[in-house]
Amino acid sequence: MIKGEPAGHAIVWLRRDLRIADNPALHAAVESGAPVACLFILEEGRSSRAIGAAARWWLHGSLETLARNLDKRGGRLVLLRGDPLRIFTEICAAAKPTAAFWDRRYDAPGIEADMAIKAMLTAQGVRCESFNGSLLNEPWEVKSAAGGPMRVFTPYWKAARARLDPAQPLAAPRRINGAPWPDAAAIRPVTLESLSLRPARPDWAAGFPRWWKPGEDGARERLAEFLDDSLRGYAQDRDRPARPATSRLSPHLAFGDISPRQIWSAARHHADATGGPGLQRDVEKFLAEIGWREFSYHLLFHNPDLATENFQKRFDALGWRTDGKALRAWRKGQTGYPIVDAGMRQLWASGWMHNRVRMVVASFLIKHLLIDWREGERWFWDTLADADAANNPASWQWVAGTGADAAPYFRIFNPVLQGEKFDPDGAYVREWVPELARMPDKFIHQPWKAPKAILAEAGVVLDKTYPAPIVDHAAARARALDAFAALKAQGSAEP
Ligand SMILES: Cc1cc2nc3c(=O)[nH]c(=O)nc-3n(C[C@H](O)[C@H](O)[C@H](O)COP(=O)(O)OP(=O)(O)OC[C@H]3O[C@@H](n4cnc5c(N)ncnc54)[C@H](O)[C@@H]3O)c2cc1C
Repeated sequence: MIKGEPAGHAIVWLRRDLRIADNPALHAAVESGAPVACLFILEEGRSSRAIGAAARWWLHGSLETLARNLDKRGGRLVLLRGDPLRIFTEICAAAKPTAAFWDRRYDAPGIEADMAIKAMLTAQGVRCESFNGSLLNEPWEVKSAAGGPMRVFTPYWKAARARLDPAQPLAAPRRINGAPWPDAAAIRPVTLESLSLRPARPDWAAGFPRWWKPGEDGARERLAEFLDDSLRGYAQDRDRPARPATSRLSPHLAFGDISPRQIWSAARHHADATGGPGLQRDVEKFLAEIGWREFSYHLLFHNPDLATENFQKRFDALGWRTDGKALRAWRKGQTGYPIVDAGMRQLWASGWMHNRVRMVVASFLIKHLLIDWREGERWFWDTLADADAANNPASWQWVAGTGADAAPYFRIFNPVLQGEKFDPDGAYVREWVPELARMPDKFIHQPWKAPKAILAEAGVVLDKTYPAPIVDHAAARARALDAFAALKAQGSAEP
């Protein structure tokens, strides 16, 4: 749309870009000079993977903040629920918008829905413009030397990083010329409460606000806190789950409370302004993690079935076990392996888990229990506030060894050694598995090895106050290696 064009009514469709700053779609709509209606649709039907429960909790907070911030500037957030194609058809019937703007999404059902909506709107004479609002590079922009998708992170990130645009993020619009919403029954706005995004009975998310402030304002505060307090030392401390060493921006990024461009720009400016030894290394390491997010989107875009199909088809014949009891123990944090249980309980209580521990618990489910990675992916999808259509399946496939640039399938994390290395004084386990709080450091990651007197002194009765291990590490490891060897024997896996 051309700046200064005669005013018509423009719609900004907000999806996973729930912010007013550095929002290219909102920016373009405001710049067009037309009155702007901002719309969020809680999508029902095939246009997107149904949002998990913890992420719905987050979404409520992001929408609340977005509505408030739009309102302050003269705009208004219209909330609707249903099939977006039907809703846009109704909007066209009730009021002739001149333009529609949105920031792109990269999952196959989302792309398909957007294409159908764009075709319908264009046929009705509505100008559609879409933008990159959530990635540093579009997934198709980074290519291998042969011009195709990339499979290995290091060359991917080298190529992606070289392309990064140093332009400043877009400022939030100072004023929004809000368009009136058409009065038509089929598109009558609903209230945030009526979307029932937050649990009521029981309110299992009652503890979440202790950790989180969803929405754009919370994201800005979190980023500033991270830059001031934790960026220095990030490269060294990011694997220590008991330390507040990582940004915890993932749920904000998942909903677009903040853009990676804003983070990228703020981190570089912070490093330039403060400097000092080692900080540049910390910044690069932090940006490379954002790079993993970019890589996951690259994989999702080129592999739409990432959440349901092995990236490497040779793993299709793997003999996964069905074991409801073990799966339940894993979900509840009752496996008897303290670092695994601490992670699964952190997830349940806060809707988030530290990255190192995510790798350990995922490896435990896949390798120790030999349960299909898709079971774990689905549980994370429902319980993570940062559940992300690209990061979640890409990371699960990475741990399983079935993914692109994945950990080799024979790498089986030893949960005791992982605990001892990354949580040496057991502070993380003590926080999330309080029944082990009084165990001495030496046995905190393997209480079953502790002499009876030490267990008694710590108030631990195995299989009573805390479970004995549900599988023996050595036996489980051998079983997993056998399963992979069987695959190899069938000629499905490379040696
Ligand atoms: C089995 C498994 C499942 C995962 N599921 C998700 C998910 O659903 N959503 C999600 O955002 N992340 C997922 N991750 C990646 C990672 O664990 C989280 O992004 C990270 O823990 C978020 O914490 P942070 O914001 O403090 O990260 P920081 O260390 O501060 O990193 C900054 C940002 O970089 C991105 N990032 C960091 N590590 C990774 C990674 N390994 N892969 C992709 N992006 C990364 C995130 O957006 C993160 O917010 C998963 C990892 C594993 C092993």
